[in-house]
Amino acid sequence: MQLELARLDGQAPGAATAPQDSPLAIRGLTVSYGEKPAVFSVDATFRPGSMTAIIGPNGAGKSTLLKSALGIVTPLSGQVTSWGRPLNSQRHRIAYVPQRASVDWDFPTRVLDVVLMGLYRDLGLLGRVRTRHLEKAMSCLSRVGMEGFADRQIGQLSGGQQQRVFLARALAQGADLYLLDEPLAGVDAATEKAIIAVLKELRASGCTVIAVHHDLATVTDYFDHVFLINTTAIAAGPVAEAFTAANLHRAYGGRLAQTPVGTVA
Ligand code: ADP
Ligand code: MG
Repeated sequence: MQLELARLDGQAPGAATAPQDSPLAIRGLTVSYGEKPAVFSVDATFRPGSMTAIIGPNGAGKSTLLKSALGIVTPLSGQVTSWGRPLNSQRHRIAYVPQRASVDWDFPTRVLDVVLMGLYRDLGLLGRVRTRHLEKAMSCLSRVGMEGFADRQIGQLSGGQQQRVFLARALAQGADLYLLDEPLAGVDAATEKAIIAVLKELRASGCTVIAVHHDLATVTDYFDHVFLINTTAIAAGPVAEAFTAANLHRAYGGRLAQTPVGTVA
């Protein structure tokens, strides 16, 4: 059991990240919506400056893990710290991009306003939008290739365009930790490339990126760490060590039929 826990710590042997250095450290997290837990007794320590894919089958608790880590869903038990402090005190350093399917796209909002929401700390509750805010929002839109859409209604955009706008809002926050729930689900190939390029830029600038990811074929290209979950934590660590056929089998069981296990280490 000790060996197992050490392996689930998410780090290469001899290079463990101490919880106080980790942008997100989770201990004993259990979440239940009903009788059966959606997430059970999960430990995870994410390494600063890493880009981690959270992987697991549908209903494995991936979204719940992110939401409960952020306090959007209340866990039954567990501790979550950010850089060794209570998460609440570090919220300003954390940006979250929810699963696109969970957002009400009929809400009548301009693209520019969505991105300006990312500047809420700077704007204050009733703050006036000033030129510098507009410039910042436009520069974030242009980082995701959406500067030409500032005046459009968010509901009128394609799925990929909406996802880019939500990434722009996260960028506007200027966070150090980015949590994204399936940012590539249902997006076109160009958007996928654009989003991954931005996430890699964030990592290169020292930020930490944690993304729920559904496409096993691109894990090795896009991410440096993985966290496999199926209600309980299955495996975690650098891609080369933890993204193995054996661990995928443990996470997905028989449901792995149409995934490219052959390309996995
Ligand atoms: P994933 O993101 O890995 O697909 P989720 O975290 O969304 O999984 O869901 C984990 C489990 O919790 C599933 O069985 C799902 O049906 C259940 N669940 C998720 N959200 C709710 C909710 N708001 N109310 C009740 N059950 C939920
Ligand atoms: Mg989900």
